[in-house]
Amino acid sequence: MNLYAERTAMLGTESAFKMGGDIARCEERGMSVIRLNLGEPDFSTAEAINEVAVTEIRRGNSHYTDPQGIPALRECIAEQIARTRGIPADPGRVVVTPGAKAIVAYSVLAYVNSGDEVIYPSPCYPIYESWITFVGARPVPLHLRESQGFRFTASELERLITSRTKLIIINSPSNPTGGVLTGDDLSAMARVIGEQAPAQCRILSDEIYEHIIFDGREHRSVSSCPGMAERTVLLSGHSKSYAMTGWRLGYALLPSRDEALLFRQFNINIFSCVPPFIQEAGREAIENTANLTVVAGMVREFQERRDLVVEGLNRIRGIHCVKPEGAFYVFPNIEGVCENLSVIAAHDALPRELRPLTSPAGLFQMFLLYCHGVATMDRRSFGVIGCEGQHFLRLSTAAGIPDLKEGLVRIERAAADRSGFEAFVREGKNLYLGAP
Ligand code: PMP
Repeated sequence: MNLYAERTAMLGTESAFKMGGDIARCEERGMSVIRLNLGEPDFSTAEAINEVAVTEIRRGNSHYTDPQGIPALRECIAEQIARTRGIPADPGRVVVTPGAKAIVAYSVLAYVNSGDEVIYPSPCYPIYESWITFVGARPVPLHLRESQGFRFTASELERLITSRTKLIIINSPSNPTGGVLTGDDLSAMARVIGEQAPAQCRILSDEIYEHIIFDGREHRSVSSCPGMAERTVLLSGHSKSYAMTGWRLGYALLPSRDEALLFRQFNINIFSCVPPFIQEAGREAIENTANLTVVAGMVREFQERRDLVVEGLNRIRGIHCVKPEGAFYVFPNIEGVCENLSVIAAHDALPRELRPLTSPAGLFQMFLLYCHGVATMDRRSFGVIGCEGQHFLRLSTAAGIPDLKEGLVRIERAAADRSGFEAFVREGKNLYLGAP
């Protein structure tokens, strides 16, 4: 008899959370590490938001509350969504969760049977693939191409839709590419979904980076397209927009009250409710329009950093980097570096059991960390299925300008350090995250 249930083998992970141990190991050796791996804003939560939470705790607002979310928060979420997407939204269809991640899990658990098909972008937030495989569904990656600015076309989506398609996940602005879908992209996609997808197929629109968008563009949601609000689970949350990752606060607008009640039931079964003082702070974040100025300042800073990093990366031999239009990541193509340093050949030459634990970009990622002190994420951390032959890194711009500049200097040095890379691989230690 095995200790663990069979299904546990099907659960994926988010490698970003694994990286801490490797960074600590480097620092114990006396290295300074530039952290460009983080998926969270490096800004602090606004003081007015903190103040509300503290006051609420002092007021004794620390008891169980409505498992669906406190009405005051659900009301302002519904109002914000209705206003910004131009769709009807009522608080009875809003569910509040401890972080938006739970909405991904609930959407898969609620709608998808084993054997059903789920279309999702790749590269993507890795939690999509994790839950799809966990429930025994068939993952159908929709590959985002660099040449298209990591957007996809309606006809690419159309080719993947079948009578078994139960859920279509989209994410704009995107983690990890920073790609943003335009209003035209979304309209064309909505037409294809309306014509081709089975009536019971839902869309999960992950809009967690809705506020972090550059060059004066506006966020667009598929739910605004004709016929889509009725079939879209709209996911968003406070983590990125208000620099509140550790508070754990996310939410969804569901197509019907019935579906909201099912999501509420998941809440009841797993954690009962999100702490009420956190929800009050979340209400303050949305309701107090002064916060929009704070958000705008953060976005301006992210845009400045993006410009610096994209320009710097494109000056490095072997690297090509598309300019992202949103989120706080850049996703450079490092194929040239992999060729120059013979990284692909080094990966091919690894012992058979090691090869699936990493990738050429993964080897360069580890070399960059252990020999040059820069923490980044590799392509394979963002959807494993069908990622072979794609040589990319994700760099976060959630770091100050001096760190970003130093990071670029180190990456340039690493990209030309052929003998260093050979020695790293020869030594054979730390070739993948969390290696013993
Ligand atoms: N979706 C995407 C695309 C994300 O990048 C993240 C967080 N990295 C989430 C959802 C989940 O956010 P939260 O921290 O609120 O759970």
